[in-house]
Amino acid sequence: MPTWDYAAAPESREIARLRSTYGLFIDGEFVDAADGTPVKTINPATEEVLAEVAFAGPADVDRAVAAARRAQSQVWGPMRPAERAKYIYRIARLISERSRELAVLETLDNGKPIKESRDLDVPLAAAHFFYYAGWADKLPYAGYGIDPQPLGVAGQIIPWNFPLLMAAWKLAPALAAGNTCVLKPAETTPLSALALAEILQQAELPAGVVNVVPGAGGTGRALVAHPDLDKVAFTGSTEVGKEIQRTLAGRRTRLTLELGGKAANIVFDDAPLDEAVEGIVNGIFFNQGHVCCAGSRLLVQESVAEDLLERLKRRLGTLRLGDPLDKNTDIGAINSPEQLARIRELTDIGDTEGATRWSPACELPEHGYWFPPTIFTGVSSAHRIAREEIFGPVLSVLTFRTPAEAIEKANNSPYGLSAGVWTEKGSRILWMASRLRAGVVWANTFNRFDPASPFGGYQESGFGREGGRHGLAGYLDV
Ligand code: NDP
Repeated sequence: MPTWDYAAAPESREIARLRSTYGLFIDGEFVDAADGTPVKTINPATEEVLAEVAFAGPADVDRAVAAARRAQSQVWGPMRPAERAKYIYRIARLISERSRELAVLETLDNGKPIKESRDLDVPLAAAHFFYYAGWADKLPYAGYGIDPQPLGVAGQIIPWNFPLLMAAWKLAPALAAGNTCVLKPAETTPLSALALAEILQQAELPAGVVNVVPGAGGTGRALVAHPDLDKVAFTGSTEVGKEIQRTLAGRRTRLTLELGGKAANIVFDDAPLDEAVEGIVNGIFFNQGHVCCAGSRLLVQESVAEDLLERLKRRLGTLRLGDPLDKNTDIGAINSPEQLARIRELTDIGDTEGATRWSPACELPEHGYWFPPTIFTGVSSAHRIAREEIFGPVLSVLTFRTPAEAIEKANNSPYGLSAGVWTEKGSRILWMASRLRAGVVWANTFNRFDPASPFGGYQESGFGREGGRHGLAGYLDV
């Protein structure tokens, strides 16, 4: 029998319209950094340099916060809410219009498959602006009093796993509530936030309402420490979240933290197994597992464990790893050598602790940072690969016999961001959902996002909610 392979279907990288250098975006203009050094941003799939980006130092952060303060008190704060809404709608429409360009840019800078940036990151980013534009003139009906007021200036720090989408999650509700913003994208993925800054110019958003200060951890630290912020919103690691909390202790600055996770994806013996396999794959191999709410712990009922694992392995054998710009690619590159080293370290610990590693036969490209989809079986709740966030395409499989045992194992985690339940019984879904300590519980699906739906965690996964009506609370003086 002849075997058929996919023909290459690469998206054109020319669409990204890359510039060779990028400045900071402060007070409506692209400007040079006063005291930071430019840094090269690379394509993690090829290690090719994409552009040089100015990194903001403390003096730049100072300028950005001052611009945001001015814009808040003189322009954006006093503006009629319906006028603010028009700007936010315009941003949403421009993101949609430039979606192909943004998707290619995101894939180049981050390493994620183009089908994900094209079908998820960019449309969802636009959807957040559309959704919150609708709230801008309806705040008195949001349930936070008859005349809710903005907090003022927000410092927002975002990670590298969903660079444009995280910018939208932070900016859209803040702007709708009448705040102005200073946004710090992650060191390895600044380009889509800078493209968004161009879109803000195109939308003629008043100067200073949004400022973008690319940089590394030091820039984030300078932003958090700035005395003139009313709010800090952070998405990233629990460790940095705790540091931010310590810095802000005793200050009036409001804080929301969206941190790590170690979600349990729980499959009962009555679940439709083929659908569950798709949900497991989407849960942990989507975005190379660089997802805070990834279903990184599979809890499967013992009676169907063998059958499910066989189907899962067969399915993993069909995943295509390689060129992220190819429309057939399922698994792209790991975002940075540091993240690859972290995945390798934790998976090596999995071996040492006695779990069994399995990956499908798959050839890794010669250049760039890659890790094959990997399953560990024979894992117990005490293993580090069952407790720590690996943030890579690595699934730890545990088994259970009863619903009570599933709950005990799922909740045996310092985190509490998300969980999934697969069963055909509605009553069991409700029984499980009311006992799982997780901010989001998906039933018979996984990794579904909607701007109208609140998202956030418990315990070491942070506090505060983003998305939906709840997302406005983090930016209103309620
Ligand atoms: P970080 O928490 O370090 O990065 C998140 C953001 O915070 C980035 O913009 C980062 O800048 C910035 N930052 C770093 N240090 C500070 C600081 N002291 N003060 C203020 N801002 C700071 O995550 P990493 O990228 O280092 O990833 C490490 C691990 O964190 C991952 O392996 C994963 O487990 C977890 N993680 C979780 C995410 C989530 O969505 N929950 C997202 C990303 C990571 P810079 O990019 O320059 O470091």
